[in-house]
Amino acid sequence: MMGLPICDVCLKSGILCQGCEDKLKSGEVSELELEISKVLYRLAEGKLGFKRAIDMGDVVIIITDRDQVGKLIGKGGKIVRTISRAIGKRVRIVGEDSDLKSVAEDVLAPARISGINIVYGKDGKEKFKIRVIKEDARRIPASLDVLNRIIKRLTGEETTIVVDEY
Ligand SMILES: [Zn+2]
Repeated sequence: MMGLPICDVCLKSGILCQGCEDKLKSGEVSELELEISKVLYRLAEGKLGFKRAIDMGDVVIIITDRDQVGKLIGKGGKIVRTISRAIGKRVRIVGEDSDLKSVAEDVLAPARISGINIVYGKDGKEKFKIRVIKEDARRIPASLDVLNRIIKRLTGEETTIVVDEY
């Protein structure tokens, strides 16, 4: 079972134990991760966990086990919306150690991907072109620039997200 970065005792009592206090001080756990842990503990009393959270400015990425992504999104996006409201930022849930295709799917959801192919920039460098299904254009969750940056951060790959023309 996937745990939280902060222990149950702390989340239950609202007072940080020495171990968690040290993690926060050393930066092993961020204030943002503490905040998200509190929300998830309130919602599920330890039944929902995550590995870490990355603050990308407007958007926060929560990394969890691949098979936990759906649980953290929740029915109809209920869980992810609650987290989003609590921290005041948009939230994307992404599976850990995923390949480019899975990361792109998680980052762009609920917009669906029609395909990914390799293109070469003017500098001759390899880039991945991620194509989104035309009718899903309005469901793309953030600006393409932000989403490309998120994918780069998670996979190291340069991408350009485009919407299919037909
Ligand atoms: Zn603790």
